[in-house]
Amino acid sequence: SPAAQPQAAPSAPIEGVGKVIAVASGKGGVGKSTVAVNLALALQKIGHRVGLLDVDIYGPSLPTLLGISGRPAVSNRRILPMEADGLRVMSLGFLMDEDTPVIWRGPIVTGIIRQFLRDVDWSGLDYLIVDMPPGTGDAQLALAQTVPVDGAVIVTTPSDLSLIDAARGLQMFKTLNVEVMGIVTNMSKFVVPSTKEEFFIFGNPAEVAKEAERLETPVLGEIPLDLTVREGGDAGRPVVVGQPESPVTAAFVELAKMV
Ligand code: ADP
Repeated sequence: SPAAQPQAAPSAPIEGVGKVIAVASGKGGVGKSTVAVNLALALQKIGHRVGLLDVDIYGPSLPTLLGISGRPAVSNRRILPMEADGLRVMSLGFLMDEDTPVIWRGPIVTGIIRQFLRDVDWSGLDYLIVDMPPGTGDAQLALAQTVPVDGAVIVTTPSDLSLIDAARGLQMFKTLNVEVMGIVTNMSKFVVPSTKEEFFIFGNPAEVAKEAERLETPVLGEIPLDLTVREGGDAGRPVVVGQPESPVTAAFVELAKMV
């Protein structure tokens, strides 16, 4: 008989949460967490109430990107999310110390993700944005099996390798019956601020558009390679709040309107 495919079991939605959106990528370092944070802030900027859940077990980066630390409080047996820039935030990073590498087996990953979805007080949100680990694995399966996921957004750069991995991620979400909303091309181009000359540092974003068409999924947005994005991330002040009028913030707002 054919090998059993992982199936997402029917599950109850999170009480008080409108949409659950997974932000995923085929490989690390493409800017997935940066996109997740700034997309969440851009959704808030256009009037939504937004929560952000970081289940990137290999490198939870939301605490750094948002400049927050500490341990979440517990009240009435519910975990209360932390707050940053108006977002409600929960991260594996709040529960582990920075220098300890994490080696967790699948069942533990699954248990933690279930708890983050079920035991955290997320009520009153229009969107819960979930920052996934790169690749395809236990976390994706745990998410899809615990709550209905309204859509997945796949972040890639225009480079060949990143694109191949993104296609694999797309296929996995299809297998889990999660609708892939589309692809975000990050680091799509570099525009010289003084001359407006454009450089395709990581390849031509038209290649992503071509691949997206082949995969029958839309390109939801293009985010340029921008110094203020990297600086904002390192400073714990994401570009959408730190540079509210910049072109790159406008690009994140356009992306938010597509989600
Ligand atoms: P991932 O979550 O895919 O591993 P990160 O979000 O941690 O990637 O981003 C990796 C690095 O790239 C970070 O230093 C981040 O600031 C930087 N970065 C991400 N997107 C951009 C961008 N559009 N412009 C400039 N730097 C970026």
